[in-house]
Amino acid sequence: MRLILPLLLLAAHPAAAQVLVVHGGAGTIRREDMTPALDSAYRDALRGALERGYGLLERGGTSLDAVEAVIVMLEDSPLFNAGRGAVFTSAGTVELDAAIMDGATGAAGAVAGVRHVKNPVALARMVMARSPHVMLAGEGAEAFAKEQGVRLVPQKYFFTQRRWDALQAAKQARQRGTVGAVALDRQGRLAAATSTGGTTNKRPGRIGDTPVIGAGTYADSGCAVSGTGHGEYFIRNVVAHDICARLRYKGETLARAAESVVMEKLVGQRGEGGVIAIDGAGNVATPFNTDGMYRGWVSPSGPVVVKIYRDE
Ligand code: ASP
Repeated sequence: MRLILPLLLLAAHPAAAQVLVVHGGAGTIRREDMTPALDSAYRDALRGALERGYGLLERGGTSLDAVEAVIVMLEDSPLFNAGRGAVFTSAGTVELDAAIMDGATGAAGAVAGVRHVKNPVALARMVMARSPHVMLAGEGAEAFAKEQGVRLVPQKYFFTQRRWDALQAAKQARQRGTVGAVALDRQGRLAAATSTGGTTNKRPGRIGDTPVIGAGTYADSGCAVSGTGHGEYFIRNVVAHDICARLRYKGETLARAAESVVMEKLVGQRGEGGVIAIDGAGNVATPFNTDGMYRGWVSPSGPVVVKIYRDE
């Protein structure tokens, strides 16, 4: 019996094919506003992150490690509104939110309003793994970071001319570019992670949907979602959890559930944004109701796919 049981367990959980999906934010992203150089810089950054995360999954790594690694790479890029390239608050400061969730265990970690943490997603993972809490905010989160040996960076690390100019122009257009990742590993475990600087010109202290488990980030044993868009709508509609709950309780397909929430519910309220979502069978959905969403995915069935605009 002792010998047979592990074999039965193995048979019940055959190695799944790994799948990884990323987003780099949804919003007013139009071809006519892009230079060819910027367009390819975004595509290269997304492709690089997908290749890195997928490599981990192919070597048998966990979906949790993959989503963290992908988000750290995108946080380090000045192109995205997360980590290094984060947008400014109305006070000219940078305040970062991030979350990570392990669908296999239901464990989750999040940080909100941190100002000196280079990789908020890594700190969110530490909150999950090394504290009894789910979310830490502001100074308390940074004190925890120091205790964990995380090197804090000065606010000037996050200064990018582009975001500064965007703050000055913020009254005209809201700049977005949150990053997110969802993954399915070979053991069939799902995970989600999201990281953001929030919305340009936000009030200091404002916290969006990204670190709110169930709103901007959620994973369970059958579904994982990372969102991007107007965070207040994602919080009110508990978007990420709603999508997963539709699969679980209504038996909807992933595509139908993600479509209903993003293209019907949110659109009905004029809540702009999109999600990346994956289910336990490796199905992927990436609906968005904005002009564009930086997005990409990779699975054993084809090469890395990267897209930006609505019409591609
Ligand atoms: N959802 C993020 C927030 O509201 C922003 C974004 O995705 O662009 O904080």
